[in-house]
Amino acid sequence: MSEEQDCLQFRTLTEQGTAPDGSFLQEHRLECEACRSWEMQSSEVTILASSLPQFDVPESLTQKILNSVEEERRQNLTTNKYFLLPLSLVAFISLLMNLPLDNWENFASWIIGLVGILSLKLLLVAANQKSVELP
Ligand SMILES: [Zn+2]
Repeated sequence: MSEEQDCLQFRTLTEQGTAPDGSFLQEHRLECEACRSWEMQSSEVTILASSLPQFDVPESLTQKILNSVEEERRQNLTTNKYFLLPLSLVAFISLLMNLPLDNWENFASWIIGLVGILSLKLLLVAANQKSVELP
C-alpha cells in the first residue's frame, strides 16, 4: 500500500473511532509526522467544539424561520412563473422559426417533444406539491 493510502486509511479509521487493526494505527502514528500532527489538531478541534456552549433555540423561533423560508420560496416560484412563461413562449416560437420545418412529420415530432416536456414538467410539479404536503 502506498504512503498516501496509508495516511488516508489511518485518518479514516481514526475519525470513525473504529480500529479493527490497532497495530496498523500504532505503526503509522510512529512513522508518519503528518498524521501525528493531523491527529493532534483533530483532537484539539474536537475538544474545542465540545467546550462550546450549546444554545437551545425556542420552538416558536424555529417555526418562524421555517415559515419565512417557505413564504420566500413561494414568492420566488410565483415570480418565476410569470417570468418563465413568456420567455419559454418566445424561445419556442424562435425555435419554430429558425429550425427547418419542411413537412408535417418534422412539425409533428417537435409537437411530440413539446408535449413530452410539458408532461414531465406537470409530473415534477405534482411530485413537488406532494413533498411539500408531507409533515
Ligand atoms: Zn500518514
